[in-house]
Amino acid sequence: MPNFSLTDQVFEQAAAAFPTPFHLYDEAGLRRNARDLNRAFSWCKDFQEYFAVKALPNPAILRILKEEGCGVDCSSWTELMLAEACGFSGRDVMFSANAMPPEEFDYASRLGAYINLDDITHIDVLEKHGGVPETVCCRYNPGGDFKIGTAIMGNPGEAKYGFTYAQLQQGLKRLKALGAKKFGLHAFLSSNNTDNGYYPALAKILFTAGRDLAAETGLELAFINLSGGVGIPYLPDAEKTDIMAVGEGVRQAYEAVFPQGGVAIKTELGRWMTGPIGWLVTHAVHSKDTYRHYIGLDACAANLMRPAMYGAYHHIHVCGKRDWPCDRVYDVTGNLCENNDKFAIQRALPRIDMGDLVIIHDSGAHGHAMGYNYNGRLRSAEVLRQEDGSFRLIRRAETPQDYLATLDIDPAACALGLKK
Ligand SMILES: *Cc1c(COP(=O)(O)O)cnc(C)c1O
Repeated sequence: MPNFSLTDQVFEQAAAAFPTPFHLYDEAGLRRNARDLNRAFSWCKDFQEYFAVKALPNPAILRILKEEGCGVDCSSWTELMLAEACGFSGRDVMFSANAMPPEEFDYASRLGAYINLDDITHIDVLEKHGGVPETVCCRYNPGGDFKIGTAIMGNPGEAKYGFTYAQLQQGLKRLKALGAKKFGLHAFLSSNNTDNGYYPALAKILFTAGRDLAAETGLELAFINLSGGVGIPYLPDAEKTDIMAVGEGVRQAYEAVFPQGGVAIKTELGRWMTGPIGWLVTHAVHSKDTYRHYIGLDACAANLMRPAMYGAYHHIHVCGKRDWPCDRVYDVTGNLCENNDKFAIQRALPRIDMGDLVIIHDSGAHGHAMGYNYNGRLRSAEVLRQEDGSFRLIRRAETPQDYLATLDIDPAACALGLKK
């Protein structure tokens, strides 16, 4: 079930204070998630969440998570800049590489970040760009299908990430020769997985491989990084991940492989942490009846791309009509010249009138962050509902001037289009 913790009055107050569309995030819910995760793994002496910055790259959010004891997982130069600006450094930063430009390794090294290598060829790059540190992490790709029981949960064999096991054996020995003393092991094998058995199954693979690789290479296993992928209930009938059960499942796997302890655990959750605490707040601005009934919103896929890109379900409710019967069937659309710009297709909803406040749920991860400027559409604002109930603008909406800023155009040349 999606998150209904905010009343319609809250959305109405926010929409009275800020022009729609905007993403609204709930600070109390965010802190609750961070605390629940830390509690679920409190059995582990050295546990830390490294929030995947790409899910919600806003400094206000990162600073809250920092207060809750989280680090950050970055995968680009500008994400590292956000981390630096928010005061993250050293052990609180994970830099997860894939086809990165070499200078990003230099920057991550200057920050003292843990470097998570994606490929055996990265070892030479790291040696020249920042140097091989005492502790280095490698990303493992076990290949084939990733199964829990008989259910296929992911296809690592088709994924671009990670070292093969043989490459880990060879690569870790090389890292040792270049001065490394300890290593971490990371893998991301399934996305948006709400099965409580996902992390425990992944943990078992990583714990076993880490233990064996330590024995084979003589490097000490410092940590296991379980990465992201824990899912959220986007659908009304979907079950919520039970994070306490997840932590307990990982504990059992841990004790079976590391009875003496001594290995730290890290996670890099993005979606689970912020997905359900964000909502895209929009107004219905257009109604059209042809072969179908359409409701047009003042937002579009540029504000939330997941439905258009993945056919993803995002729950929608209409403010003030929660108790109304869902006796209409609509395609809920944006304003892009692109027929996939639909937030919902053939969705049963209450009757929507022009001016209704329409709330799209679970926009808090991979929502605003995936925004783009197709059709010259501008990215929206982000608003934080603080713990005391007040609202704070944590990112202003883009303006036409922002859109023109990278072009060789003097805004004065299109002065009729500049709002007074
Ligand atoms: C995207 C990503 C994450 C976060 O994934 P979620 O599905 O949002 O939990 C974590 N680690 C890495 C390396 C990623 O690329």
